[in-house]
Amino acid sequence: MASEERSGGARIALVTGATRGIGLATARGLAELGFVVLVGARDASKGEEVVRSMVEEGLDAHLLELDITDERQVRRAAETIDRRYAHLDVLVNNAAVKLEFHPSPPSAAPLSLVRETFETNVFATMVVIQAMLPLLRRADAARVVNLSSGLGSLGLATTPGSRYRDRPLLSYNVAKAAVNSLTVQFANELRDTPIKFNAVDPGYTNTGMTRNTGSRTAEQAAAVVVRLATIPPDGPNGGFFDEDGEVPW
Ligand code: NAP
Repeated sequence: MASEERSGGARIALVTGATRGIGLATARGLAELGFVVLVGARDASKGEEVVRSMVEEGLDAHLLELDITDERQVRRAAETIDRRYAHLDVLVNNAAVKLEFHPSPPSAAPLSLVRETFETNVFATMVVIQAMLPLLRRADAARVVNLSSGLGSLGLATTPGSRYRDRPLLSYNVAKAAVNSLTVQFANELRDTPIKFNAVDPGYTNTGMTRNTGSRTAEQAAAVVVRLATIPPDGPNGGFFDEDGEVPW
């Protein structure tokens, strides 16, 4: 059966880590544009709460239980999407952890923290992309947005006077640099297809991750994610963007 027949022609979006913060605002933003949004949640009760409130607002949202570090659950999630919709139009790789809060010298960074951060932010993100790729290939023009950060930019970290030069959070920053590289690698592999991969810096945002010290709202941050998730066929592929345009790698 063709995907359109199974999904009624609906555009399907999956946002990982959509229980709060930028992920939640992105899920709302995409649903407001008419997407059927799969709310990726490692904690099903939190996810159910989000879905309930979105549905009450008239949005088309569904829970997808998904701890991105659980490979079996990732595979099951892909099977569920396949069964229900047969394709995926948008994948937002938002779920991530930041295990260091205060900058500290890289020479003192505990390996355990770096490993744990990479497990979620890099390896699990890669596994999700690989698992969802067959579904993305079946969409007309799928978009993948990887949540990165200015902290992952080598360009900003090496620019004299840049505030990113003085924010050594080794595990988080190195993992986001790896997310940028993942973005480029997948974009290169798939550049002859309609699928586009881009990385986004949402800016310093008021969420749990920043202990609500951010200067932007989750809705402001999500706007740039939603924009990259819905770029037209002549839009960029394999780039790194914030709300003002390109961010240096
Ligand atoms: P947040 O408030 O900490 O929310 C993180 C989300 O990811 C939560 O929904 C969390 O679920 C989920 N998550 C964590 N580990 C997961 C896993 N293994 N499987 C599934 N979900 C998982 O973070 P945020 O500030 O919204 O950040 C969202 C994204 O933007 C992240 O990639 C972050 O690195 C990036 N970013 C944020 C900022 C900022 O200033 N906030 C700046 C630049 C980039 P639970 O609710 O279950 O914990």
